[in-house]
Amino acid sequence: MAEIRLVNIVKKFDEDTVVNNLNLTIEDGSFTVIVGPSGCGKSTTLRMIAGLETPTSGEIWIGDDCVTNLEPGKRNIAMVFQNYALYPTMTVRKNIEFGLVNKKVPKAERESLIQEISDIVGLTDHLDKKPHQLSGGQRQRVALARAMVKKPKVFILDEPLSNLDAKLRGQMRRELIQLHKRLGTTFVYVTHDQVEAMSMGDQIILLDKGVTQQMDSPMNMYHDPNNVFTAEFIGTPP
Ligand code: ADP
Ligand code: MG
Repeated sequence: MAEIRLVNIVKKFDEDTVVNNLNLTIEDGSFTVIVGPSGCGKSTTLRMIAGLETPTSGEIWIGDDCVTNLEPGKRNIAMVFQNYALYPTMTVRKNIEFGLVNKKVPKAERESLIQEISDIVGLTDHLDKKPHQLSGGQRQRVALARAMVKKPKVFILDEPLSNLDAKLRGQMRRELIQLHKRLGTTFVYVTHDQVEAMSMGDQIILLDKGVTQQMDSPMNMYHDPNNVFTAEFIGTPP
């Protein structure tokens, strides 16, 4: 089991409380979308799950393990960022391989992993290109491949499609849903876009001001909002 639980998580930056006693559960194998207005603490929450920020107080659990103070490399989580964070001077192959740095994977195995993953995300013909020779969608696929090559238990994606145009965004949404089905791994996906959230997630967590407003299926969220904020954000007719 790799269910992720955040228990009474508080995160302050100086005097600023950006996550305020947050409780949430991300089910093992789910496609969970964390959605909420800009600045509500989504990225900070993801970064705490990945281990890139430490909570001021509270606990983070993955399955039976309390990982609150565990270093990122030991959490078996891979994160994909909005700006791709690719290395501009490295080829696609090297960028993907970089996901395996520090993992002590033998060269032959690295090669076969790169082949397998680039085939899944459709990059086989682009392995020797540099990022500037790729389209936005292809760059996003490289970022995904770099995360996938680690075979993590959990994928964390922070607004991964927000730099893409509307048509490509629609296509990538469908591809990500397929990828989730194929891998069966937990996906934690952040967006500020309620349409994206409702169309992609099997579990939705709506945040506002660092607090969970509702944690539910898209259907329940729409038909049975907990409060006025949820109803207005999701667009439930009054
Ligand atoms: P979201 O991803 O939902 O847009 P964030 O988690 O990025 O929100 O940010 C929540 C709040 O925390 C914002 O007000 C932001 O300015 C603040 N914040 C985020 N990271 C830091 C930091 N490293 N130092 C100080 N304030 C931060
Ligand atoms: Mg953010």
